[in-house]
Amino acid sequence: MDIKKIRNDFPILSSTVYGKPLIYLDNAATTQKPKCVVEEIENIYYTTNANVHRGVHYLSQRATDLAEESRVTVQQYINAKHSREIIFTKGTTESINLVAHSFCQQFCTAGDEIIISAMEHHANIVSWQLQEAIRGIKLRVIPINEKGELKLDEMKKLISPKTRLISITHISNVLGTINPIEEIIEIAHSRHIPVLIDAAQSVQHIAIDVQQLDCDFLVFSGHKLYGPNGVGALYGKEKWLNRMPPYQGGGEMISTVSFKGTKFNELPFKFEAGTPDYPAVIALAAAIKYIKNIGLDSIKAYEDELLKYCTDELLKIEGIRIFGTSDKKSSVISFLVGNIHHYDMGMLLDKMGIAVRTGHHCAQPLMEELGIEGTVRASVAFYNTKEEIDQFISGVKRVVSMFR
Ligand code: PMP
Repeated sequence: MDIKKIRNDFPILSSTVYGKPLIYLDNAATTQKPKCVVEEIENIYYTTNANVHRGVHYLSQRATDLAEESRVTVQQYINAKHSREIIFTKGTTESINLVAHSFCQQFCTAGDEIIISAMEHHANIVSWQLQEAIRGIKLRVIPINEKGELKLDEMKKLISPKTRLISITHISNVLGTINPIEEIIEIAHSRHIPVLIDAAQSVQHIAIDVQQLDCDFLVFSGHKLYGPNGVGALYGKEKWLNRMPPYQGGGEMISTVSFKGTKFNELPFKFEAGTPDYPAVIALAAAIKYIKNIGLDSIKAYEDELLKYCTDELLKIEGIRIFGTSDKKSSVISFLVGNIHHYDMGMLLDKMGIAVRTGHHCAQPLMEELGIEGTVRASVAFYNTKEEIDQFISGVKRVVSMFR
C-alpha cells in the first residue's frame, strides 16, 4: 500500500491542531473521508438532486438509479444474496433498533429471551432493554474472560427454549476482540436461533460474506467505513424481513393507503419510510469502491502490523494496563497508565495534536465488569503511519513523566 498516496486522498490528515500536525487515532469513533466521498456528495447536490422513487422526471429517475446501484454495491460488499435484503438506515443504532422493535413485535412474547454479551455497545443493549419494558422480554448476557474474550461455554448454558435471538458484536469497540462469530452462529443455528451481527467495527477491517457466515442479520454504519454520516445498513435474510412488520410508517413503505387499511410495500422499501438521505446512500457506494480498490486483505495486514507495533511499544511503559489482550484483535487499544485519569491523558495528548477517545466508549456495563470508569482508546486505520504511532507513544510517555 502506498500510504503517502493514500493520505493525499484525505485532506484533513495534513491539517494541524494547536500548530501541531494532526495525528488521528480515533478511527473507531469515526473515520475520515476520502475526497471521492465528499466530491460525490457535492456532485449529487449539484447535478442530480431530486427525491428518489417519487418522480417521473429525469433527475428523480437518475437519483433513484444511483441510490439503487448503491444498494447493489453494499449487497456485493457483504455478498448478500439479494439487493432487497439490504435496508438503508441512519446507521448501526437505527438498524439494531429496527430489528429489536420489529423482530420482537412479531416473534417475542413476555418471558422470551434475547442473548447479548458483556462487551456490547449501548446500541446493542438499550435497544433490547426498550423491548424488555414494552414486551416483557428478558436479556441474558454472555460473560467475558480476563483477556476480554466471550465465554462460549457460558453462552451455551444461557441458550434455552425461550431464546429467540442472539445479538452480538463482531469486534468490540473497547477491547478490539474479534469474536468467533462463525462458531456462535453454528451453535445458535443448531438450536434454530437466529443471530444478529453488529459489524460496526468490522466491515471496515475484515472482508464479510453474509452467505458464508449464514448470519440472519448484520448491521453497520457508513461513517465508520470512510463514508458519510447519517447512513448505514441492515442486512437481513429475506425470510425474516418478509415476516417482520414495518418499523416506521410513512411514504415509500406503502403500496396503497386508505382509511380502511394500508398495504405495505415490498422489500426493501417496507423498512424505508420517508425520504432517505440519498446523497449519503450514493456516497456510501463511493466509499466502498474506494476501500475495495485498496483491498481489505492489504488493509487488514497493514492495520494488524500497526496494532502490534503500537501494543508492543505501549507495553514498554511502566504501569500500563491494556484492556483486551486476546490473540484475535483488530485496530483498537484501550489502556490506562498507573493512576492517570483517562480524561487527563486524552486532554494532554490532544494538546500535542493527537486525537484519541477517552471515557466509557458507550459500553458502561463493560466498564463496570472491568472495574474501571473509562479508558484511553487509540484506534488505527490504514492511513495511519508507524511514525504517527511513534509520536503517539512519545506523547503518552510525556504525559506519564508529567505525572511522575
Ligand atoms: N456498535 C458498535 C460496536 C460501535 O462501535 C458503534 C459506534 N461506536 C455502534 C454500535 C453505534 O454506531 P452508530 O453510532 O454509528 O449508530
